[in-house]
Amino acid sequence: MNLNNSSPTPEKPFNALRMNTMNIKPLELTEFQQTAQNKPLLKCVCCRDRQTSAGVIEARDWITAANMCGWRVVFTRGERMGTCCPSCVDDMKRVEAQQA
Ligand SMILES: [Zn+2]
Repeated sequence: MNLNNSSPTPEKPFNALRMNTMNIKPLELTEFQQTAQNKPLLKCVCCRDRQTSAGVIEARDWITAANMCGWRVVFTRGERMGTCCPSCVDDMKRVEAQQA
């Protein structure tokens, strides 16, 4: 029996699984969070980046702006992971593209 088996592990089943279990969706109004000072707040679950506004902004406007900037909600296996900042979303998309 050869323990140094160098044959590549099949990657396709893993890829298919991964593609099916990860979802990146635009933010909805329910994602709106505020600081103690009533200012809109966005937190990235990946890099812990935080974004607040300088002033008070309507929830709907803030969420629209966040989506335009590239903030997304990430789900894995149907479980909500949380909101991710544009650069982390880009990284996830790049990883996904490499594996496709
Ligand atoms: Zn991030």
